[in-house]
Amino acid sequence: MRPSKQKSRTMRRVFKKTPGGRKTVDYVLRKPKKLVCSNCGRELHGIPRLRPGKLSKTPKTMKRPERPYGGILCSSCSRRRLIDSARSK
Ligand SMILES: [Zn+2]
Repeated sequence: MRPSKQKSRTMRRVFKKTPGGRKTVDYVLRKPKKLVCSNCGRELHGIPRLRPGKLSKTPKTMKRPERPYGGILCSSCSRRRLIDSARSK
């Protein structure tokens, strides 16, 4: 019997070619889901899809756009939100 990780789809399968020309299968942990805008649900850009261990080692500036609502709202929703907040003052 093979280990369960090779049977289940918990691990992602990556097909690789060795220097000797053989094909092998690597079992890699899956990436987390893409972050989405909390207002419209569109996919957020400028955010790395890393596992928590690696994410803790990356600088904060590389984890989200450096603007108000960066990493929470998409660019068009944050623009809308900023304009609305300026008008309501
Ligand atoms: Zn949005």
